[in-house]
Amino acid sequence: MSEGKKRLARVELPADARLETLALREGLPPSQWGENAEALFLTSSFVHPDAATAARRFADEEESFTYSRFSNPTVTMMERRLAALEGTSGCMGTASGMSAILLLVMGLLKAGDHVICSQSVFGSTIKLLQDIMGRFGLEVSFVSQTDVDEWRAALRPHTKLLFAESPTNPLTEICDIAALADIAHRAGAWLAVDNCFCSPALQQPVKFGADFIIHSGTKYLDGQGRVIAGAVCGPEDLLQSKLMPVLRSAGMTLSPFNAWVVLKGMETLAIRMKAQSDNALALAQWLAEQPGIHRVYYPGLASHPQHALAMAQQSGRGAAVVSFDVTGEGPQALRERAFALMDATQVCSLTTNLGDTKTTISHPGTTSHGRLTEAQRQAAGIGQGLIRIAVGLDHIDDLKADLQRGLSTIAK
Ligand SMILES: *Cc1c(COP(=O)(O)O)cnc(C)c1O
Repeated sequence: MSEGKKRLARVELPADARLETLALREGLPPSQWGENAEALFLTSSFVHPDAATAARRFADEEESFTYSRFSNPTVTMMERRLAALEGTSGCMGTASGMSAILLLVMGLLKAGDHVICSQSVFGSTIKLLQDIMGRFGLEVSFVSQTDVDEWRAALRPHTKLLFAESPTNPLTEICDIAALADIAHRAGAWLAVDNCFCSPALQQPVKFGADFIIHSGTKYLDGQGRVIAGAVCGPEDLLQSKLMPVLRSAGMTLSPFNAWVVLKGMETLAIRMKAQSDNALALAQWLAEQPGIHRVYYPGLASHPQHALAMAQQSGRGAAVVSFDVTGEGPQALRERAFALMDATQVCSLTTNLGDTKTTISHPGTTSHGRLTEAQRQAAGIGQGLIRIAVGLDHIDDLKADLQRGLSTIAK
């Protein structure tokens, strides 16, 4: 950064403002019109007062907005707000959660570098790292979500990045973020955590030592199933020096409109996460007692294998995704029973998205994980009887009644 660079003004908030307040107010100061709701700057470029100023701005000698591929006030507001919630010095908005991971990898790594990744992360993340980045010379090892010794054993001299996600989809396995950060840092590598399922309202991975946080804004940040969006949070100096040149040239840019939707969605993030998490716990407890259900996966249940770790990392809450296996014998019968249960529900939306205020129900084995072979699915613990529910704000009694309708079809 050059001497005398003019920094963009910040919103002046008390230094001890809490997450709920930051979620409403962090961003940029209002325009000359004093709008209370943040403005949507739907513009591709910005005009300059004179040619010399334009030259300074393009030479990065003066901070300003020039072109929305890499700088837009609405996007900046969303980035500052999310950084404030995650407790990072910087944030970079991206077109989707997947492009956030692409930006991180292209910004930090080069051909021949090695990444260690949990084998339980989002399916598209595995495809991106292994199949696509593999073609550009990235080396990736996939290891157990929960066994830290496997992560340590996978280290190579050129390991640069550890990548994890917690809880995972759909089995809600928890990784020990502090232990992974320690392994990464001793090896001179970074730890990135996909914080999609908890959001910063429940879990702030930087508190446990993570360096970068990945978000799909599509999920809880928007929270109402409207837009595709993403972000990388992390140290501002690294985001500017390593990621910005890639974003600027490769353009995995977040649209100002989508940024605005996510920006406004974050205002209710904390209250939604608490309410949806409470609903999910009540539903998980109820499901665990129903006939026709073999096993419930939910970190808020004391029976979850990493319950204590989840409670310590996730502000004492299990988040809002609950999965369960129906009873039955053999893949064909299990699938039929799962389908019958889902088709009998009337309230839950049959869709694979999650993070919506509307409760969604899906069958991972034939949708999100349908591209895996049966052997891969079995290794991942995703059977044909598995159903995932991303619990929203529907009344808990309506959800129980809905699942009861479903369960009565398989009790017959
Ligand atoms: C949805 C999701 C992504 C990808 O986000 P998109 O916005 O759909 O690109 C990444 N990680 C996790 C955990 C997700 O649930």
